[in-house]
Amino acid sequence: MQVHQDAPVIGCDGDHSHDTDAHVSDVTAIAKSSAGVRRQARAAASPADLNDSIRECRACPRLVSWCQDVAVAKRAAYADETYWGAPVPSFGADRPSILIIGLAPGAHGANRTGRMFTGDRSGDWLFGSLHRTGLASTPGSVSRDDGQRLEIVRITAAVRCAPPDNKPTTEERDTCAPWLDRELELVNPDLRVVVALGGFAWSAALAALATCGWSLPMPRPRFGHGVHVNLERKDGHSVVLLGCYHPSQQNTFTGRLTEPMLDEVFTAARRLASGCTIHHVGTLAVRSGPWQGPIRGPALDRRLVALERLRAVGREHGCVVGDRRRVQDP
Ligand code: SF4
Repeated sequence: MQVHQDAPVIGCDGDHSHDTDAHVSDVTAIAKSSAGVRRQARAAASPADLNDSIRECRACPRLVSWCQDVAVAKRAAYADETYWGAPVPSFGADRPSILIIGLAPGAHGANRTGRMFTGDRSGDWLFGSLHRTGLASTPGSVSRDDGQRLEIVRITAAVRCAPPDNKPTTEERDTCAPWLDRELELVNPDLRVVVALGGFAWSAALAALATCGWSLPMPRPRFGHGVHVNLERKDGHSVVLLGCYHPSQQNTFTGRLTEPMLDEVFTAARRLASGCTIHHVGTLAVRSGPWQGPIRGPALDRRLVALERLRAVGREHGCVVGDRRRVQDP
């Protein structure tokens, strides 16, 4: 097996004195079951501890061996590279204002490079947008030592091992969930925005937010691109959950997700992270809020006036406030 030198040696036959689920408080122990994941996640005292434990995790035998198999077989274009071939830790700020949640590492992207959304087309799209909206230091994301920096953003995933066909099983999703729950607890002091990339991440984000004490509306809000949900905790800490189509090739090749659509979400995330209310981010409010749908008469007048106000705010802050509502002249 050939994996990256910094990757954990998972499934090795050699002496590994920490190789047990029994070490409840030892963050260097290896999680080998869902109970082990829960224990190791609870034991992590910092985001760095958590990342260390995730790297070592082998609780899902199917995913662990598939990641290793991909690391051995490789894609022809990367035949000379040493794949990471293991669970991928989160990347970015330890105290983020914006947490981005993806589905899972890509087989020849993050599973190759060892960094979330790094080394594939999805990563190009995501980091391109983060850079255009002032949230990433450079537009590219090609390797773990490419100098990319995220100051207020952290990128994580609902499942940390690359799954075959990008489809983790329900059991694998549930086994991996405590890592995300604990991460949310550890990074939440400055958190203002959670961006869920796709429906799978949306569900994982809602579950983790509920576990960490945020009240969810009932019925639970459905995923959609541009959908936003304001969530509040008893201690008054509020966050906004934003939905965004996943920048997978399936979405970007078909035009379901375009660069302006992605930029719109991250512009909104940045504005929200800096303390603006949802009404000041323009298009999202217009697209997904109560203004959606055909309107006429005085209601239309009021909303057009409000839209003009939004446009003025947008101009002031250098962003475009689109007119995506469906209106009907009276
Ligand atoms: S998917 Fe998550 S729980 Fe399963 S082995 Fe990978 S890191 Fe561990």
